[in-house]
Amino acid sequence: MNVGIVGGGQLARMLALAGYPLNLRFQVLDPAADACAGQVATLLRGDYDTEARLEQLAEWAEVVTFDFENVPATAALALERQVVVYPPPGALAVAQDRVSEKTLFWELGIPTSTFATVSSLEELRGAVIRVELPAVLKTRRLGYDGKGQRILRAPEDVEPAWRALGGVPLILESFVPFEREVSVLAARSRDGATAFYPLVENHHRDGILRLSRAPCPVPELEREGWDYARRLLTRLNYVGLLAIEFFVKDGRLIANEMAPRVHNSGHWTIEGAETSQFENHLRAILGLPLGSTKAIGHSAMLNCIGELPDLAAVLAVPGAHCHAYGKSPRSGRKVGHITLRADETETLAAGLQRLLPLVGFSPDGFGVG
Ligand code: AMP
Repeated sequence: MNVGIVGGGQLARMLALAGYPLNLRFQVLDPAADACAGQVATLLRGDYDTEARLEQLAEWAEVVTFDFENVPATAALALERQVVVYPPPGALAVAQDRVSEKTLFWELGIPTSTFATVSSLEELRGAVIRVELPAVLKTRRLGYDGKGQRILRAPEDVEPAWRALGGVPLILESFVPFEREVSVLAARSRDGATAFYPLVENHHRDGILRLSRAPCPVPELEREGWDYARRLLTRLNYVGLLAIEFFVKDGRLIANEMAPRVHNSGHWTIEGAETSQFENHLRAILGLPLGSTKAIGHSAMLNCIGELPDLAAVLAVPGAHCHAYGKSPRSGRKVGHITLRADETETLAAGLQRLLPLVGFSPDGFGVG
């Protein structure tokens, strides 16, 4: 079977690596000559809205999927006219706009922070009164890894934030003083079968995910998260892997955002679950039976940002696995990740104490000191 992927980054690369044992072939569409999935799959070079390239991909592939959600809506619809496309472009459209996303959460009874749309300085002043400070001003579209965001703590922060972000549609959200951040990874197949991974706990720094740990042993939260995920999968008639990020406050979930694709907080599943998120995404979009999402012991995933750590030092830690993405080093860039798997939480903590300094962090900052 031929699978086309729009976007040729590390997610496409890991999808291809998971798909070869299933006898799948891959082509990825990306404008960059050095797109890292191009090292393991055929690279079609072209912009995401170049008609000829989309047609080429659609002709070759039996199913087309995405490695990022900001694919132009017109491109997703053009593909859908020629080939089976999953996740459904409708889900992509919702996830591309923070306001549509939060509105859908509300419709489905999934709690979110208080929010207001903002398109002028006057509207921002009004929104600040309704939402109350502290609050977070974000671009509605194209934000990722904390980019396009400003925290407003006092009235004098309003104008500078507007000057920094204004000019594009914005959303003002109340700042959530969360106890922790978690995510739910869920898969739905073409026949409607669903599967849910154990709850993941996530730690960000400067808006970028640094550390994920799974399973996060809070059964009530897991049940709540799976219930919310099920509502979204059903409403969106979803096919593929869906990730939803939540804040935990007063022991309850508050949805932050969703990603209609495989997700950074699910990378631990390659070694840490019976079936990885990448394989289950492929199984789902091809209409194959979903694999078990059961965790194998305890896992932690550390992102390598900017540059890769010393390989020998990483591999000297028992249970550590390295995933380099084949990208050149650059400040702020995700160039790889490390997964640590262990049978006991104590062994996991001991391994993390050795691994965290290798990716530039003190263990104390992540509560494993
Ligand atoms: P996002 O781009 O929405 O995923 O935000 C990136 C990170 O910024 C989140 O994972 C949080 O750590 C933080 N953040 C975003 N929105 C809020 C909020 N409303 N309240 C508190 N922290 C937030």
